[in-house]
Amino acid sequence: MHRDTAIVHAGYRGAHDPGVFRAGPQFSSTFTTPGEPTDHTLTYGRFHNPTWTAWEEALAELEDGECVAFASGMAAVEAVLGTALKPGDTVVLPSDCYYTIRLLASNWLSPMGVIVRQAPTRDQAQAALLDGARVLWLETPTNPQLDVCDIRQLVELASRRDIVTVVDNTTATAYLQRPLQLGATYVVSSDTKALTGHSDVILGHVATRDAQRAAALRTWRTQHGAIPGPMEVWLAHRSLATLPLRLTRQCENALALATFLTTQPRVVAVHYPGLPTHPGHAIAERQMDAFGSVVSFELPTRRDAERFLQALTLVREATSFGGVHSMAERRARWGGDAVGEGFIRFSVGCEAAEDIIDDVARALHTLDE
Ligand code: PLP
Repeated sequence: MHRDTAIVHAGYRGAHDPGVFRAGPQFSSTFTTPGEPTDHTLTYGRFHNPTWTAWEEALAELEDGECVAFASGMAAVEAVLGTALKPGDTVVLPSDCYYTIRLLASNWLSPMGVIVRQAPTRDQAQAALLDGARVLWLETPTNPQLDVCDIRQLVELASRRDIVTVVDNTTATAYLQRPLQLGATYVVSSDTKALTGHSDVILGHVATRDAQRAAALRTWRTQHGAIPGPMEVWLAHRSLATLPLRLTRQCENALALATFLTTQPRVVAVHYPGLPTHPGHAIAERQMDAFGSVVSFELPTRRDAERFLQALTLVREATSFGGVHSMAERRARWGGDAVGEGFIRFSVGCEAAEDIIDDVARALHTLDE
């Protein structure tokens, strides 16, 4: 069966099972459990929920590993770091990974006694920091600069030293890139982004092929209460069926937009792994099925970027990415990333490519007025 077909049906009841295609959300904080709790599969809403189970089973087909759903991408990130590290251990982070993960490292891991090393994603620079480390954390393509590293090569270097590897797969999603097949121990994903793609839920998950690590993640989720709401999970599951359609269209649109931007004199630089000029293009071509829905580019100044964003009429100015509606923002407004004042992160939606490009072309044109 084609993978797209499997995704459309993932977590749904079989074609010959009578009744609903997929059960509705289960809103139960507790379950009737006479006698011994061990006699029951469902006991309390923080421990388990049938809506999560269906979602995790569907995600498992996509990831090719066991999945544990969390309340947000950051809850998933924290669960991996919290279960894989102890005081005295060393973690190697990308210096250009999602900013809040670096904040979490300095505000939580370092005070707890975990040693944090950082190197850029580009040029496999993290490889030089591996000696004595416990966890290697990768993010590829990175948010927001879209740099790329070779997952297989770094995983091999790490596993020779008995180092656990984690790939934050948020920008690509498991539809475009499957790090567990490349040997990674864990995949972390913010499902707030392209995986669910409608800008209406905050969710995350972790995937792993190691049953003990998965069990530790479930215990963490139960004890920290980092549980997703059944309604969010149910909506996410509904969105999964259209993931192949959405992301295929978004990746085509993103490549068209990136190519257009390279022809624009006002644009100083375009960052998109799908462009042959991108330094990570060859690696991305090897390890991704397509190049993702985010295009970043640079305008000369903050004023240019602000004028550009104000002049857009179709594309919304908003943070986040991966949704069906195109959105863009000046990334430096948040701080934390080593990007110029005119750096734009553009999340390409499912609209017709010509409408997105028209809107961008018109907004760029206003910079000449
Ligand atoms: N990882 C990456 C790469 C992200 O871009 C984000 C959010 O932007 C996260 C993790 C955190 O996800 P969430 O906002 O769902 O907590």
